[in-house]
Amino acid sequence: MSPMETTTSRVGITTTVPVEVIFAAGLEPLDLNNAFVSHPAGGGLIERAIADGFPQNTCAWLKGIYGAVVELGPRRVIGVVRGDCSGAVVLLEALEARGVEVIPFSFPFPPSREEMEREMNKLCLALGTTVEDAEMWRRELLPVRELLGEVDRMCWQENKVTGLEDHLRLVGSSDFGGDPGRYREELEGFIEETKGREPLDEREGIPFAREVRLGYLGVPPITPGIFSQVERLGARFVFHEVARQFSMPNHVRDIIEQYLDYTYPYTLRARSEDINRESEKRGLDGLVHYVQSFCHRNMEDVVFTRALGAPLLTVECDCPGELGAAAVSRLESFIQVIGENL
Ligand code: SF4
Repeated sequence: MSPMETTTSRVGITTTVPVEVIFAAGLEPLDLNNAFVSHPAGGGLIERAIADGFPQNTCAWLKGIYGAVVELGPRRVIGVVRGDCSGAVVLLEALEARGVEVIPFSFPFPPSREEMEREMNKLCLALGTTVEDAEMWRRELLPVRELLGEVDRMCWQENKVTGLEDHLRLVGSSDFGGDPGRYREELEGFIEETKGREPLDEREGIPFAREVRLGYLGVPPITPGIFSQVERLGARFVFHEVARQFSMPNHVRDIIEQYLDYTYPYTLRARSEDINRESEKRGLDGLVHYVQSFCHRNMEDVVFTRALGAPLLTVECDCPGELGAAAVSRLESFIQVIGENL
């Protein structure tokens, strides 16, 4: 396949969308968030957006996604205009003004089967496929989603997978790296490799009676160093709320139900129920809500502080790179207070 063919068959996505539709259309999904945050010149992608007029005080993810489209060149982008980001519509217009074909997708609110069927049909029509073919792809992807569930279980139950390892595999399931077959092989290899490991909760250097078990809430971090940082302090993230949702962990009837069961685009009440249920199941000691500077989702704490059962710390970050000193210090105090009371 020539580079030109690769570019034209690639479809950028601004967040999790029904990826089965993209595969059913014979196209290759590219999660622009993952492309941005793993890009060797991530800061340069933000600079590119600023040079094109994005204000300094807008979310770095939005600027990075824009920069990733300019740099990596997908000519088509599916953007979620309801259920993800308040800046998505302007982002899509900015991309359209550069000649990119944009396809809007909405997670219906309130969630309803009828509305979801309508949205799914629209997306299928735009990409030249059908809901029936997308449903076939849903079944095709089920074994890969099962493997993701196994990696996640090995993180929280067997304690053999680090927070970063679990996060990267779950968050990558938004586009399966563009190639579900290869993704599946990599997951199988990873599971084999981790089986022989010593449990991480028995590692040396934990300064408390035992490891502090944390849950990570909110959008994926622009500073993935947060996962290793808490492990240096005697804790570990054993629950990744939104990334786990990307992997569609529950057994459902069909593709319509799958994207209605996905909690992130809908209510904070349903997200809180999911978080409380998993907190209990995984024996979490505390929750860290990651928020991105200039993001409307920072307001979620208004509900979370009342609805969640475990102790909650909110950490805000802005740009890619190292976790800032203020965030490290807040995490340290939070973990210490929990750890000393175990
Ligand atoms: S962090 Fe918030 S503002 Fe930024 S892209 Fe995500 S939802 Fe949008």
